[in-house]
Amino acid sequence: GRRVVVVGAGMAGVQTAVALREQGFKGAVTLLGAEPHQPYDRPPLSKAVLLGKAEDSAFEVDFDSLGVELRLGCEVLGVRTDEHELDTEAGPVPYDVLVLATGAEPITLPGTEGVPGVHLLRTLDDAERLRPVLARQHEIVVVGAGWIGAEFATAAREAGCAVTVVEAADRPLAGALPAEVAAPMAAWYADAGAELRTHARVERVEPGAVVLADGTRLPAGAVVVGIGARPATGWLAGSGIELGPHGDVLADAHLRTGVADVYAVGDCASFPSARYGERLLVHHWDNALQGPRTVAANILGETPRVYDPVPYFWSEQFGRFVQYAGHHAAADRLVWRGDPAGPAWTVCWLREDRLVAVLAVGRPRDLAQGRKLIEAGRAMDAQALADPGKPLKDA
Ligand code: FAD
Repeated sequence: GRRVVVVGAGMAGVQTAVALREQGFKGAVTLLGAEPHQPYDRPPLSKAVLLGKAEDSAFEVDFDSLGVELRLGCEVLGVRTDEHELDTEAGPVPYDVLVLATGAEPITLPGTEGVPGVHLLRTLDDAERLRPVLARQHEIVVVGAGWIGAEFATAAREAGCAVTVVEAADRPLAGALPAEVAAPMAAWYADAGAELRTHARVERVEPGAVVLADGTRLPAGAVVVGIGARPATGWLAGSGIELGPHGDVLADAHLRTGVADVYAVGDCASFPSARYGERLLVHHWDNALQGPRTVAANILGETPRVYDPVPYFWSEQFGRFVQYAGHHAAADRLVWRGDPAGPAWTVCWLREDRLVAVLAVGRPRDLAQGRKLIEAGRAMDAQALADPGKPLKDA
């Protein structure tokens, strides 16, 4: 039988192996992962694991009984696609079908790489290094008010640390949400006792302090950098596998690359979405769950299956459950459901009169219904949508 080799033993890699077996693949499956740990889930790293409420977040997958060969602590260094062979620290590994699932790596703050007291939050090792930092109740400066920055600030406040979040943009989540929607979220920081400083550029990090471009010196027992992540695809340079502007593997609608027998899925890959009319690079958990099912089906099947999901993610921050489904563009029309100063509200985005995205804060039912309406592409009445007392599905 054919041998499938999956590079990257995170959510997308593990789910690819699981999906192959679930769908009846009988050939050999090998999963190669650079990290030494049993494969684990990342969302708990900025939540329960960080606070020591959970020891770890290992996946409950029995690789032996699935007949999946798991090689951990094995970094893949390159691929020779003509020979259908990978190069690893432990020597070459041949494949018939290759799945790229190397995820993403956090962007570092220039000049702070390896500086003691400066942390990132991507891996279990990162979370384990941060746990004692929280326990010591240091003054902490978080760089970046994105999803990770907000979740880390939440945990650090819960642990009793003094927290300052510095953000270069004029608002939190500037890359993800329009100003109108992010504005009420800025207040959540203050509610939780964290200080949010916008328009704040980090000039340098000194021992015990972060110095901003305007000269402000912020005392910092520790610094946590959360300024985004980019696909972990440096090892593909020169392989002939095409990368996009963000270092993303350019997959097609079937999650295949332009090179024969090579697929790509999860945080490392972008794909064209016919639904949204643009290429999407999704850095969220659900994409690393759904994508692998399409990859497995296409490895097994005769008729190629198209991957064109309604993306979904959640974030737990400042005591709120934030969920987002779909994808919106700047030109889409925004409709509010509920008062953003209150504890629960929803924002909908319409393109013409069809729902394309929903952001729900503490309104999981809106999210669940919205997700289905987005899938269905049904026309909606904007006025009815704006009434939070009316079920979304009846609008
Ligand atoms: P990864 O999880 O990054 O796994 C890739 C694996 O490949 C890594 O283990 C890496 O070591 C390995 N690898 C990389 N290069 C090589 C190589 N050359 N050779 C061998 N192995 C290699 N999403 C949500 O929707 N909601 C959340 O609340 C949420 N919280 C998060 C909290 C944190 C702290 C983080 C970091 C992410 C969070 N996410 C969340 C995002 C979600 O975890 C990711 O989208 C998901 O992990 C992507 O899975 P992946 O398998 O594509 O990549």
